[in-house]
Amino acid sequence: MLSDVFLKLEKTSERLKKTEILSEFLESCDSDDIYAVVLLVSGRVFPQWSQKDIGVASMLMVKAIAKAYGRSEADVEKQWQRLGDLGLVAEDFSKTRKQATLFKKLLTVKLVHESLKNLVNLEGMKSQDKKLAIISSLLTSANDAQARYVVRAIIGDLRIGVADGVIRDSITRAYFSEIFWKDLLKLKINKKKRIEHMLDVYNNKRILVSLELKEYLSDVEKFEEKNTVTYLSENEITKIADFWKKTAKYDVILVNETDFGNNLKSKITGIVERANEAANDFAMIAKIAMEEGVKGLEKIDITVGRPIKVMLAQKAKGIKDAFDIVGKPAAFEYKYDGFRLQVHKNGNEINLFTRRLENVTKQFPDIVDVAKKGIIANSCIVEGEAVGYDKNTGRYLPFQQISRRIRRKYDIGELAKQVPVVLNLFDMLSLNGKTIVDEPFEKRRDNLKKIVKETPQKLILAKDIITDLVDVAEDFYKESLAKGNEGIMAKSLSAPYKPGSRVGHMLKIKPVLETLDLTIVGALWGEGKRAGWLSSYTLACRDPDTGEFLTIGKLGTGIKEKSEEGTSFADFTKELEKHIISKKGKEVDISPTIVVEVAYEEIQKSTNYSSGFALRFPRLVVLRDEKAVEETDDLNKVSYIFAQQRHNN
Ligand code: AMP
Repeated sequence: MLSDVFLKLEKTSERLKKTEILSEFLESCDSDDIYAVVLLVSGRVFPQWSQKDIGVASMLMVKAIAKAYGRSEADVEKQWQRLGDLGLVAEDFSKTRKQATLFKKLLTVKLVHESLKNLVNLEGMKSQDKKLAIISSLLTSANDAQARYVVRAIIGDLRIGVADGVIRDSITRAYFSEIFWKDLLKLKINKKKRIEHMLDVYNNKRILVSLELKEYLSDVEKFEEKNTVTYLSENEITKIADFWKKTAKYDVILVNETDFGNNLKSKITGIVERANEAANDFAMIAKIAMEEGVKGLEKIDITVGRPIKVMLAQKAKGIKDAFDIVGKPAAFEYKYDGFRLQVHKNGNEINLFTRRLENVTKQFPDIVDVAKKGIIANSCIVEGEAVGYDKNTGRYLPFQQISRRIRRKYDIGELAKQVPVVLNLFDMLSLNGKTIVDEPFEKRRDNLKKIVKETPQKLILAKDIITDLVDVAEDFYKESLAKGNEGIMAKSLSAPYKPGSRVGHMLKIKPVLETLDLTIVGALWGEGKRAGWLSSYTLACRDPDTGEFLTIGKLGTGIKEKSEEGTSFADFTKELEKHIISKKGKEVDISPTIVVEVAYEEIQKSTNYSSGFALRFPRLVVLRDEKAVEETDDLNKVSYIFAQQRHNN
């Protein structure tokens, strides 16, 4: 049962063990179920590229649990406080269920998946009631463990610790032959042990052994008796195109841990990974791997109109460091402060996606228009940074001033006029039906230049230079900052485009901002792993005139889970608990006593905090217990850094 698998996955934190558990389960699944199983394991109802989201808030879940188990909402809330996780609350109530469960259905994977899909598709009048009915019907039929995971799946937090890498490795292991070479190598020292091990592990399997290994397998009559063993040379193994497909011929391949063995393994993992980069849908990948093997996976390609995960940037310490990583010569480009857009053009149809794969085509009719006219290709996928500018002065605006365009649902045309954006293109992933992610950046960029008809303030190519000189790159960096950009990007000319990876093919270089000393004025009681601890600390700076504390952000990063590793949540909790002034649900107000040094990516203007600013990605540098709260940095310093970080202010 899937819930048993979830329980096992949750119990272990070892990645290899998780892969073993999941791959065994995948192997045992019917091809009818596999799609839904993989989606549920990855905590999704629809594939990753899809826009759809379940949209059930915790409060609705509280109601649904109350309804399903005949409890009051206050009861549910109380248990929630205690256990820190609504999944555990449902499981707890399921164990002590008062009501007879007349309406119990067998909870199959399909039924759960179908019900979750129905939740997603509900809109409009009475949708809340219908959602409640669906969830409580699921819970009525669920056993204890199923209740835990149904609830968590719906609120989007499964807590089984299965990331994409584990899913990829499990698919590889489930549907392609296991390759054992590590064990063999280890056992090489002791022949007797090695043979015992093999006799132990393999039984009734179809095993392909590389001839190069045969010498270690002398005296293995029993091994051959118990299994069907074939010997082939490494050369011959390479020639059999789908030898690793389980449904083909062999269950296990034994090769030595040489370059051959390592290549074999990375080749297989690479094929699965590659297929997923193009499709963004592990559920589909699993089904194809199961039914068609490698040949099926190799056919999967990028589809224009379906978003692809973007390649992410690493940080470089400076120009020299950047050259060390991406090589010489390298391309440098302005790093614009806007948001990344992936433009998919198919004939006259344009689709725009953000880096989170959200479709934002409707919000940007102006970009759709310029892309139609200015990108001269029948079909292509290109990427760029959309940046807002002041229509009077033409100067770039910080990201925040255009961010509202991303969410806007009404008066879109009017907003487009008020807040115009220019798209700075810098990469291309596909051209006229051909996927070009494997071509070197230099070539992709040249192709891009050929198909773009630039229009000032609408569609342009990101400003770039190619150089091998530190001085030239430094000047370009200064020039970019002087124009109000965030910094520059350094890109390897020979590198492919790696969707979704933070590989060092593309680096960002930007000024480091001073840290701030702030105090903590609030916190939240944590959930799940953080139950029992105060977390998410509200940070504040000082008002220099009144001495009052003004909020500026929330801190949750850089704090350790275990005290041995540094200042931990437990350490903070012990200290902060003494200073709680008031409580509201999980929220507490804290009288300012502790000073923390905080680093951040940027200071933004914000109406969410009383200082009028917000820190982007704040993280703890160190607890400044030697500092008095009066030494907390004040608003003047915050405003000063804010002004410094952009050279156009
Ligand atoms: P960061 O978000 O700080 O990790 O920086 C990487 C982001 O910078 C990318 O995801 C883009 O949205 C943005 N960016 C701005 N200009 C460029 C450029 N010329 N090339 C690549 N990314 C850029």
